[in-house]
Amino acid sequence: MHYQSTRGAAPLLGFRDVTLAGLASDGGLYVPQSWPSFSREQIAALAGLSYVETAVRVMLPFVGEDLSEDELRELCTRAYGRFAHAAVTPLVQLDQQQWLLELFHGPTLAFKDVALQLLGLLFERFLRGGNQHLTIVGATSGDTGSAAIDAVAGRIGVDIFMLHPKGRVSEVQRRQMTTVLAPNVHNIAIEGSFDDAQALVKAMFNDRDFAGRFQVTAVNSINWARLMAQVVYYFYAAVRLGAPDRPVAFSVPTGNFGDVFAGYVAAKMGLPVAKLVVATNVNDILHRALSTGDYSAGTVTPTDAPSMDIQVSSNFERLLFDLAGASVADQMRGFEANRAMQLSNAQRQGAAALFASDRIDAAEMNGAMRWAHAEAGQVLDPHSAIGLAAARRAGAPAEVPVVTLATAHAAKFADAVERATGVRPSVPSRVGDLYQRQERYDVLPATFEAITSYIAERATPKA
Ligand SMILES: *Cc1c(COP(=O)(O)O)cnc(C)c1O
Repeated sequence: MHYQSTRGAAPLLGFRDVTLAGLASDGGLYVPQSWPSFSREQIAALAGLSYVETAVRVMLPFVGEDLSEDELRELCTRAYGRFAHAAVTPLVQLDQQQWLLELFHGPTLAFKDVALQLLGLLFERFLRGGNQHLTIVGATSGDTGSAAIDAVAGRIGVDIFMLHPKGRVSEVQRRQMTTVLAPNVHNIAIEGSFDDAQALVKAMFNDRDFAGRFQVTAVNSINWARLMAQVVYYFYAAVRLGAPDRPVAFSVPTGNFGDVFAGYVAAKMGLPVAKLVVATNVNDILHRALSTGDYSAGTVTPTDAPSMDIQVSSNFERLLFDLAGASVADQMRGFEANRAMQLSNAQRQGAAALFASDRIDAAEMNGAMRWAHAEAGQVLDPHSAIGLAAARRAGAPAEVPVVTLATAHAAKFADAVERATGVRPSVPSRVGDLYQRQERYDVLPATFEAITSYIAERATPKA
């Protein structure tokens, strides 16, 4: 299996190198040169398999020669052994048609664990033996930071530097990061905003000398291996609901378009997906792009679903490329210059064949939380509630089950959930002693000089 860049000017890479590289050298994103395809019989044979076995079958075609089937199975067993539910991603029925796929049973209570737990192990596996060393640098407003730190804590060959805006993440979110005391984890509270933190990280990636010297890489959802790991649960859920004989629709609370793109990949591989509903909050660039063809960024409005408060959805480029290869590099350069672009007719029509979209405001989100609680006794987090609101409005035919991806545990957003439903969700016991654990982090000014010299003192340079 070879991977190509969406911008067409980077070398083709195998799975190992794509995993370690993150972004392509031409600024594009890596995608497989062709989609593996599963026959009806192969899909039917997934029935009754465990999550780990499903994961091995679905991901094997993507890893090529870089991992044996047994190695992949071992990594999946370790990654998903850390989940608190035997089914890893259990399905819960809400009513005759609506289902939830609970993706939040990992160590940090958000769906990002599903992919990052595996990614941390892949990094370690691919760095083993050589004297290579990877320096992960990221900025977080909350969820990604804790999931990434948990996934790489203690892993050999990797250091992680995570920047968060001092005093602007919740105490639970901060403690989930700063109580991880492994020596390869470096938490930095910067004296500035999340945007300042993100700008500093961008500047570091763009400093080719610095990035090259420390082999700096990213763990956000531009990394192909993350998307690959997310394809698995679409198969797992659909097979449980009757695929390949019965098509299934999914509704996905969407920010960076990573999670829902994994659903597109599943459909490309032959899974009978009736519809993929892209659910946004009021930060609705994707809803506008899919419904009118206008992909133009505005300013971010903060909401109770902060992981979807986004104006630029990096993974959308992967879809545009798959729908109409050649023009994407120009299109994206235009977008980067003007923060706006139009989808081509081919892209609009191609997307409309599989995607629907909806924009859910605060009242509709709260209504969905109340409905799930009253109707099915389920307490949803705000992100999942946005997915459910869009799912219920999507108008799928009665015989098609609609699965909403539940992307976070309600306890991560307890205040918003309590405001909507009157119920205050409690933090599961496995993360419950956060307030007793020791914290470790350093506070730095939000300057390029301060951050890079901090990292240079602690990271391992290229041999
Ligand atoms: C990251 C995140 C999302 C958005 O996922 P994308 O892959 O960026 O579209 C939705 N909900 C939660 C809770 C998240 O953490």
